[in-house]
Amino acid sequence: MAEVQDAKAEALTQIARDIAADNVTPQLRDQATQLVFGVGSPDADILFIGEAPGKNEDLKGEPFVGAAGQFLNEMLGTIGLERKDIYITNIVKYRPPGNRDPEPEEKAAFMPYLKRQIEVIQPKLIVFLGRHSMNSFLPELRISQAHGQPVRKDGQVYLPLFHPAAALYNGGMRQTLIDDFSLIPAILKKIK
Ligand code: URA
Repeated sequence: MAEVQDAKAEALTQIARDIAADNVTPQLRDQATQLVFGVGSPDADILFIGEAPGKNEDLKGEPFVGAAGQFLNEMLGTIGLERKDIYITNIVKYRPPGNRDPEPEEKAAFMPYLKRQIEVIQPKLIVFLGRHSMNSFLPELRISQAHGQPVRKDGQVYLPLFHPAAALYNGGMRQTLIDDFSLIPAILKKIK
């Protein structure tokens, strides 16, 4: 097990190096503090994919460390998980200036590296945090309808959820996200 973890960790480190070496989105890189590649267990059963780093993430070099991240940690706690048990990354790995939405070509530029992350981690379940993440894989779906319903495509199971930042201060959406989140253990058990 430890060897698998080590090999996966090394493979992930190589992908991060390649992003820098390949000059991905230099316009974003030049305005960002650092690459926000991903964090957690390289051998996780669950991979969470967000949109792009915000200010706190850019400063710390880690995804979901601000208010939305705090909310995510709380929800993980309700299903008996900690950040070290899962893996968290974003579609876009440099902070877009002023927290604007990532452009389609920025999302596309990072996709090969995200696919390599998925190949290395081999998660049983991929959880999309928000529509940017979901639509990068399942462009036909609308988050308002698809949230909380697992989708199987090409042998991979995906679960779309509302973005924790969008749900944080919206009572109804917040409760829906908490309810959807609570489905994760049963979905994972069914996959296994
Ligand atoms: N929102 C995201 O989508 N990703 C982060 O890392 C932080 C906030």
